[in-house]
This record gives sequence, structure tokens and C-alpha cells, in this order.
Amino acid sequence: MEAEVSMNRGKNLESYLFFTGGRRMKYSFIETKQDSHFPIQNLPYGIFQPMNKEPRAGTAIGDYVLDLSVMDEAGLLNGTGAENKNIFNDSSLNNFMALGRPIWTAVRTRLQHLLDVNTPDLRDNESLRAKAFHRLADVNMLLPAKIGDYTDFYASKEHATNVGTIFRGKDHALMPNWTYIPVGYHGRASSIVPSGTKIRRPFGQRKSKSTDQPVFSPSVQLDFELEIGWFIGPGNDLGKPIPIDQAEDHVFGLVLVNDWSARDIQAWEYQPLGPFLAKNFATSISPWVVPLEALEPFREAGPIQDPAPFSYLQQTKNGAFNIELDVYLRPENQKEETRITQTNFNYMYWSIAQQVAHHTITGCNMRPGDMHASGTISGPKRIERGSMLELTWRGTEPIQLNSGEKRIWIEDGDELIIRGSCRGDGYQIGFGEVSGTILPSFSEIEILQKGKNKA
Ligand code: MN
Repeated sequence: MEAEVSMNRGKNLESYLFFTGGRRMKYSFIETKQDSHFPIQNLPYGIFQPMNKEPRAGTAIGDYVLDLSVMDEAGLLNGTGAENKNIFNDSSLNNFMALGRPIWTAVRTRLQHLLDVNTPDLRDNESLRAKAFHRLADVNMLLPAKIGDYTDFYASKEHATNVGTIFRGKDHALMPNWTYIPVGYHGRASSIVPSGTKIRRPFGQRKSKSTDQPVFSPSVQLDFELEIGWFIGPGNDLGKPIPIDQAEDHVFGLVLVNDWSARDIQAWEYQPLGPFLAKNFATSISPWVVPLEALEPFREAGPIQDPAPFSYLQQTKNGAFNIELDVYLRPENQKEETRITQTNFNYMYWSIAQQVAHHTITGCNMRPGDMHASGTISGPKRIERGSMLELTWRGTEPIQLNSGEKRIWIEDGDELIIRGSCRGDGYQIGFGEVSGTILPSFSEIEILQKGKNKA
């Protein structure tokens, strides 16, 4: 199913220059609307599967995906250091991630050149174009990497304060270690799923305050967590920490994360250890990995850190990124989504580099394709809270949906959608979205007797 590509002509150039105030920004011969998440300034990487073909690596441009294995085969990536290695003719980006920043930069620079409106190689080669481009709507997006390990942090001060207040009271909201340590826990990589995967409501033990004994039942406090994740490129040797000023060289790119959580299971199981079953049933991620380089124009100073961090956590350059993040809820059989969260990644107290440096300070080794996530991203206002737990203050302040319905937790059939983008002047660097719909739990009989284990 090769795509007929809609191309930019002179008329589009005029409107583009109008949008950008007459400044000549880089633009592609592939038509890219101003509100597109995927202009030539972005070029995120993903693994896609065209109809009746094997999975392969691509980059998103406008409404299309460019097949990088075709680019490599055509010799157009020669000289980048990534050519002729079957790196893009693969079902994961792990081998590309392992190559490191100089080669990522060379490939990105080459792709921006090949897609530029003034470069004829691809623009004027109709048969190559037909082979190389697919409509995004026609392909299936898969996980971008084989994820060996997944670590989830807890890096938003507002989130940690809200959760601490809910569970321990206002006076003990933030644990004394929190402003010294980027707190995290080792998560479960096997249950990370791509956007669109349906999520089965989990069973577990829970205990209400009013009873002495726990019950075994489907979770009744199902929640989402709005997070940003990042993929590790080159790893480090066991025993050799990653210094903070080299930490970002180990970060390939970012995705949106929904770290599904069962709050009733969590409340019963987690003291004094970290989360276990409350979070191991599913974590959804957006399929396009936005390169760190695409986010450079949106780098800024994060919150002031007081007390000053230990020197191994002191970062020379600004470590925060201005990424606008929205969460939407859509009940079953309804068209309309309600925006329930509107926040920003720049609220995060601990930066990505600080989290990577802290994770490896013991000598813990990272491997290409490992994923870290930030922890729930919340801001100071109510609309900026990144979970139902906080939005409804553990079920005491229901959310009003546009349909008139109310929610305190996520119900069966509800779809949760997270979208994110950096808004530039006349363009945006988008993440696309991560969505997931909740399926009702199996019955207890199915769980116990039939041993069903597939959604
Ligand atoms: Mn989480």
C-alpha cells in the first residue's frame, strides 16, 4: 500500500511564510500543517508495520511515515555511520539506540536534508517516494524498543506532596529524603504496551478502612499516571556510574507514558516497600520517540533546588523541558473527550540527567532500550494534577465530565488519552498520543479456574 504523497508547492510556501511571520524556517516538501505534531523540526523515530510487511523503523513527517530501511537500501544514509547494518530493517530501535549521539546526529541531519523542500533526491524520485512513504493512518505502530528494564521515578514535588498528604497527612507530606534523592523503583518491562492496547482491569487484594480483613476482587480504584519516559541509548559498564554531565548522551529520546495504577491494591501492599502488583499489570507508551535534539529549543531552567543537591547531582546546563501535557477521558460509546489535566513537564523537580546519574551512582548498568519514566507530573493547580488520585483527592472531589457524568476513578469502557507537545513559533514538536481503554475484569471463576491470561 504505497502512498501517493501530497507535496508542498509554491502556494504552500506562501502560507507557510505567513504562518512563520515571513521568516524562512526549515520546511519539507511533504505537506505539514501548522498544527501537525510532526514537522521537519521533529522527526521522531518509531517501529511501524505496513500491511502484509515486516516491522521496520521509520520517522514521522506530517501525515506520513518515512521508511528508514528503504532510505538505507537506497544508499541515502551512506556516510552517517548507521548505513548497511540492518539497523532500520529491524523490529526494534535498540541497535540504533546503541550507536550513540554522533551517529544519531548524523542520521537526523541527513533526514532533515533529504526531506527539505530544496533537496531533489527523494522529492523528485517518484518510484522511491512511493516505496518510502506510507500514510500514518495505514500502518500499525509497535513498541519502539525491546525494553530490558524499566525504572519509574517520583520526580514531581507537587505530585509527591499531594500523594504524601493524602496517605500521611499534611505535616508528613514529603519524606525527609525527597529533596535529596530522586526517588524511584524498579518497574516491570514485560507489561509495557503501545498506545491503543486495551487494558484489563486487574484483580488484587484490597482492604477498606472500615473492615479488618482484606478482600480479593477486581480493583475499584483504577487510576492513570501522566508521565514522560525516556529511552537509554548507549549503556554503561557495571560498576561505572554515568557522570551527570554525560547523562544526556545516554538518552535517545522521549515518549508519553501512562503508568496505570490500582490505588486500592497499592494502599494495601506497598508499605514499607515500593509498588508491586498495583502497577505491574500495564504501562502504556506513545509509539514515537522524540529525539532529545528536537527538544533543544524548549530546554529551560527547572524549579530551584533547595537544599542544593550533592555534587554528583549538580547539572551544569538547564535540565528541564517545556512540554505541554494534556489528559483526556472519553467514556464508552461517547464521542466527546473531556480534558481532565493540563500541565507541563517543566514542573519536574529532578531533571532527566539527575535521574540517570542517580540511578547509576551505585554502578548499576543501563542497556540500550531500557526505559525510565519521570513519575506522575503534577503542577500546583488542581487542573495540573496528573492522576485521578490527586484530581479527585482520593475519591472525595469527583471530576465533572462534559457529558454530565462524574468520575472518581476510571470506569470500564473509559478511554484515557495523553497528548503532549512543545509549542514553538509557527511549529510544534509533538509527541502524538498514548491512549488506552479499560476492559472489565475477568470473573473470579475465570481467574481461578480457567487460568485466562490473555486480554
Ligand atoms: Mn508511576
